[in-house]
Amino acid sequence: MKDEDLCWECRTKLVKKFVEYSLYGVFIGKFPARVCEKCKESFFSEETSKKITELAKQKGLWGLQARTKVGQAGKTLDIRLPKKLIEFINLKKGKEVTITPESKNKIVITV
Ligand SMILES: [Zn+2]
Repeated sequence: MKDEDLCWECRTKLVKKFVEYSLYGVFIGKFPARVCEKCKESFFSEETSKKITELAKQKGLWGLQARTKVGQAGKTLDIRLPKKLIEFINLKKGKEVTITPESKNKIVITV
């Protein structure tokens, strides 16, 4: 058995399947993958990965993850959101959002 037929995580034999792929909640498509029956991890070929990246770019989903610096306004801190991200979530000045801590190093902003 070839090494690439095994799951990188748990070394279980991979099965060829079509899997649905979504990014940030947006459906990208159904793609051929090699799936681990045990840990449900799916692996795409380099060619498929390139295709997924291309489709994600076309849908404006690429480069939404960004780094930003924390600023200060009086006694509170503020975080500037990049333009691309603002457009994706359709955020407007004055809109109310909910900020929820998920852990000590993660917060979720719900629009
Ligand atoms: Zn596995």
